[in-house]
Amino acid sequence: MNAIILSIGDELTLGQTVDTNSAWISKELAARGCDVLGHVTVPDQQVAIAGAIASAVGNCDCLIVSGGLGPTADDLTRQALADVLNEPLEINHEWLTEMQRFFRQRGRPMPEANQIQAMIPRGATMLWNTCGTAAGIAAIGKGHSIRKPDAAAPLSFGAASRGHAGTVIFVVPGVPKEMKAMLTRDVFPDVEKRAGGAAILSRTLHTFGLGESSVAEMLGSLMNRDRNPSVGTTVSGGIVSLRLNSRFGSPALALEKLNETDAACRSKLGDLIFGADDQTLAAVVAELLTKSGGAIPTVTTAESCTGGLLAKMLTDIPGSSRYFREGFVTYANESKQRLLGVPAEMIEKFGAVSEPVAQAMAAGARRAANAVYALGITGIAGPDGGSEAKPVGMVCIALASEEGEAVRTFNFPGDREWIRDRSAKMALTMLRYKLLAKPLPF
Ligand code: AMP
Ligand code: MG
Repeated sequence: MNAIILSIGDELTLGQTVDTNSAWISKELAARGCDVLGHVTVPDQQVAIAGAIASAVGNCDCLIVSGGLGPTADDLTRQALADVLNEPLEINHEWLTEMQRFFRQRGRPMPEANQIQAMIPRGATMLWNTCGTAAGIAAIGKGHSIRKPDAAAPLSFGAASRGHAGTVIFVVPGVPKEMKAMLTRDVFPDVEKRAGGAAILSRTLHTFGLGESSVAEMLGSLMNRDRNPSVGTTVSGGIVSLRLNSRFGSPALALEKLNETDAACRSKLGDLIFGADDQTLAAVVAELLTKSGGAIPTVTTAESCTGGLLAKMLTDIPGSSRYFREGFVTYANESKQRLLGVPAEMIEKFGAVSEPVAQAMAAGARRAANAVYALGITGIAGPDGGSEAKPVGMVCIALASEEGEAVRTFNFPGDREWIRDRSAKMALTMLRYKLLAKPLPF
């Protein structure tokens, strides 16, 4: 079972409105075992809409169209659909009566223009709109009987999708609230039935510290494109995520195969995978800190270039007061000396961005806060302040514990925001590996 999603509107193709409808519809379809072959967006032009419908018909089981059902001259979806089906538009009296009642209730005459909202192609089915005046439409499009408008360039959805005798077409309003209500009430139950119990289950596994290509190399054949469950990678905020999608005939089988692939990914990447789905690095660190059952170890921070971002990430987690009492933002050299006891001579000798200073910051914070763990960060976030020996992006991060101060120097790419973000995440990662009692794997 597969679908194509077609969104209609000048505001979408001009980039003034983000197409949130397609994203929502895709997720809902996947949850019902229906794969999405593609998203198409066209402007409010009848020939473009008809072309997109004609191209999809015969190439998918189900076409869901949203937008262009309003009462004005720029709403042309029903006309385009009638064109493709080669059927005239006819008044649907049930919906016309409902619209007249709607306006009567509000004490207003129904504008002539609204009449079009009760028109659907002959032979099609009207879909009830529970929160607006535009009726939806359900119809069957036959791949072989369509009349393709000359001006429309055919879209291609690949050979895999070809060979359908008929495509069920659902047309719904573009207004997200109306679209969601109509699809949920009248379309999704039908889709679910057509999917015949098939399931698409997904899981995302997150890694931090290695680049996308290194992660891909470690995964090897698990990333083969013809594999089911499929494994793909995406990157956001320095976090390389593995996207697992499992498509099978039943939810139980899809889950079993998804778990198998999850385990296979973990056996390749080990602890590099820090969490799944909505889990953040800070949440995982919080779990490690609090799960031991004994006294919860306390954590403090001594930050220079990150300006408190690490403390922010740690305290983003509800209940973080159990392990985080205070952090230090020591931007100036004088502050590093006064608040953390970093020796002036050390800063003079090695520079404020150096491993000894990062270590002294962590050790000083640990002492001052009487904490079990302390993270010290000093680096060059840029855009200025870099040199050949210490370029922008060079960041020293130290982790102080009762065993002393471990320290690493990193060279993060990107702009100021990136460097600060990656620094704070790397500090969390260092603490995470410490709590796992394992060395950093990179
Ligand atoms: P329409 O049904 O074409 O009259 O659309 C009505 C309104 O719904 C538009 O003005 C947009 O603000 C919104 N809308 C339409 N299509 C989408 C879409 N694909 N994603 C998000 N909003 C949309
Ligand atoms: Mg519109």
